[in-house]
Amino acid sequence: MQKFALICLRCGKYEPFAIKGRCACGGTMLVDYDLELISRTIGKEMLPARVSSMWRYKELLPVTSQDSIVSLGEGWTPLIRMPALERDLELDCIWLKREEQNPTGSFKARGFSTAISVLKEHGFLKPAVPSNGNAASALAAYAAYANMHALVIVPSDCPGVITNECLRYGAAVFRVKGYIHDAANIIEEGKAEQGWLHVGTLREPGRVEGKKTMGLELAEQLLWELPDVIVYPTGGGSGIIGLWKAFRELKQLKWVSGNLPRFISVQEAGCQPIVDSLHQPADEAAPQPEVTSSPTGLRVPNPPDQSLIVSIIKETGGSAVSVSRDQIAQAQTKLGLCGISASPEGAATLAGLQQACERGLIHRRESVVLINTSHADKYIDYAATEHLPVIDSYQELKTILAQSL
Ligand SMILES: *Cc1c(COP(=O)(O)O)cnc(C)c1O
Repeated sequence: MQKFALICLRCGKYEPFAIKGRCACGGTMLVDYDLELISRTIGKEMLPARVSSMWRYKELLPVTSQDSIVSLGEGWTPLIRMPALERDLELDCIWLKREEQNPTGSFKARGFSTAISVLKEHGFLKPAVPSNGNAASALAAYAAYANMHALVIVPSDCPGVITNECLRYGAAVFRVKGYIHDAANIIEEGKAEQGWLHVGTLREPGRVEGKKTMGLELAEQLLWELPDVIVYPTGGGSGIIGLWKAFRELKQLKWVSGNLPRFISVQEAGCQPIVDSLHQPADEAAPQPEVTSSPTGLRVPNPPDQSLIVSIIKETGGSAVSVSRDQIAQAQTKLGLCGISASPEGAATLAGLQQACERGLIHRRESVVLINTSHADKYIDYAATEHLPVIDSYQELKTILAQSL
């Protein structure tokens, strides 16, 4: 008997599992598990003996056969306390989830491990993705490992390190004039003729399920006590959707109890559709503001299901904040000085937390989790190291040290 099916979050339609992400009504379809049945085969006490990857939760992922699993060792990333930030922000407990330690250096690995496993199980071989970069390189790596042929389209200003990474994994790489949705339109137009399977955000059910494992891990790592607040850097939004789904499933399994964590969604000023639609009633006719933010995973002017993200934030009593490019850069420096390599998106969570504290959105005793979705080196400017001294002896080093005192 199949342990999972698809359900439309908008109209409630229930269908057998298939590789699709949208319902005929336009709503998002997500995987619905028979949690009653699953709870008879797995208990949370069985988890510690399992593999140190996100596949420790395989019963809660939409793959039936062990042979279908395409894994490069993703997930089960460290969750560490940040004592210097706690002192700084006068909060009792700040955790950082080190998603930059995933294969391909971002949490996108989780989504594509699942999506490519699902494709393999169902015999699809030609995935294509529109991406700001990290989804492209993650797809490229997982497709390569599974012997599939990936096509990726990124904006023309995508960081060169990431575009190169896609090439290394053998993907067909194209750059588009415009934004991620322009890339998506091209894939939609060509998919029938080219036989592509569109694995963009919310186009198929696997990626949200993979991202969900971040939430399962958070709960397990915190000994089944959910944190009070999760600060999440939001682009297409499937990370927040996945985390929310994780906590709901855990509650249904009775592995956790209490309130869901409040989500604080962070975006960069200059492309902040979630912040805007949370604070202003939707006006479909209003012209879209011009996009002026940096080319990162946060730059998604048209999230595929904005109303779902907004409803999750509201349901949990959360909020959404926008931070400037400078605030992100300062937070990135600060995290670096704490020993953490954070991408602009990851650093945005710290900038967002600072703002949330200033606005009184967080109480001192609450526990907060920052999700460091990727590392700084993907966006590095190598010229920034050219002023560093080159030495050839200890004597020279000693002279420089003495001068800098
Ligand atoms: C894709 C991405 C995001 C945005 O995540 P969503 O789940 O699409 O909202 C944030 N940070 C990084 C590093 C990303 O690659």
